[in-house]
Amino acid sequence: MGGFQFALASGDAAGPRLGRLVTPRGVVRTPAFMPVGTQATVKGLTSEEVREIGAEMILANTFHLYLRPGAEVIARAGGLHRFMRWQGPILTDSGGFQVFSLARLRRLTDDGVAFRSPLDGAEHLFTPERVLQIQRLLASDVVMPLDVCLGYPADDARAQEALRLTLLWAQRSKAHGAGEGQMLFGIVQGGFSPAMRREAAERTVEIGFAGYAIGGLSVGEPREMTGAALEAVCPSLPADRPRYLMGVGAPPDLLDAIARGVDLFDCVLPTRVARTGTIFTRQGRVNIRNAAYREDEAPLDAACRCAVCAGYTRGYLRHLFNTDEMLGPRLATYHNLAFLAHLMDEARAAIAARDFERWRRGVLEAYTTAW
Ligand SMILES: [Zn+2]
Repeated sequence: MGGFQFALASGDAAGPRLGRLVTPRGVVRTPAFMPVGTQATVKGLTSEEVREIGAEMILANTFHLYLRPGAEVIARAGGLHRFMRWQGPILTDSGGFQVFSLARLRRLTDDGVAFRSPLDGAEHLFTPERVLQIQRLLASDVVMPLDVCLGYPADDARAQEALRLTLLWAQRSKAHGAGEGQMLFGIVQGGFSPAMRREAAERTVEIGFAGYAIGGLSVGEPREMTGAALEAVCPSLPADRPRYLMGVGAPPDLLDAIARGVDLFDCVLPTRVARTGTIFTRQGRVNIRNAAYREDEAPLDAACRCAVCAGYTRGYLRHLFNTDEMLGPRLATYHNLAFLAHLMDEARAAIAARDFERWRRGVLEAYTTAW
């Protein structure tokens, strides 16, 4: 774990925390949201724009990059940072989530998971060791172990079996180790039962990782269930290690998880919905294609300080989307990511001022949509 360090400026095992994740490629101030660069690109934006928005760390998907262009190709290009011209830290997932959601004809054994590529039907095998080797070739900074992902609903028997395999693979991943200059996180699974989640957290911590991801949530379960799982997991995680809630990016959910002690987030939501014209604002999400915005001279969000809101109007954005111009999705993506970066800035300032709960209530009162 050379060159890595996580320091809490305030907070404890539970409750909102202010921290700094120090990596050889820069510091990530937490709580932080990581934009997703699935195919080694945050869709539509240059790496310079992603940095300008305020992102300090991004995520890339092992499964997709392994299939195209191939981990060896990226290694020969000098690693993911050089390949995509992103100098800051990168977190790669293990590919497990995509294997379980996108791949065909999976065969799951204690050894790993065999699957057919959704691109050409070719057979591949992911073992805990293999996915760490792939991430070593990608040369990302934070790497994830292979885990078993369930959807919602999942009965306790299936969740128990998924947890058994996830813990077995976590042990093998720890024994194999990450590459030089990489930080290996553990992933807490455990379905939707708080008791199983707590057990998963304790057993993952026993194996011992540099940080802890919480996986398998925000997959369609009711919001109270996500909250109960976080409440079961967070107090069981060591206070001095970063916590990362995978796949959560809706503004109210981010604030809820920060309140419960989570430090890092990633999600395709802000970028995916931006491409169809859904814009985050402090009053909730709006669909910019709506006729109501045709002659609207206001910025996307009056409270936003981003470069798009500094000059472009809602009426112009609506026009771009209605004429299928590529600038529309680009500007909307830029704004949605800037919106979340600013929200995280404010969250950190509120935690520093010991005013998080009052700040959060104020944000949620103004926010009128479900996500
Ligand atoms: Zn903006």
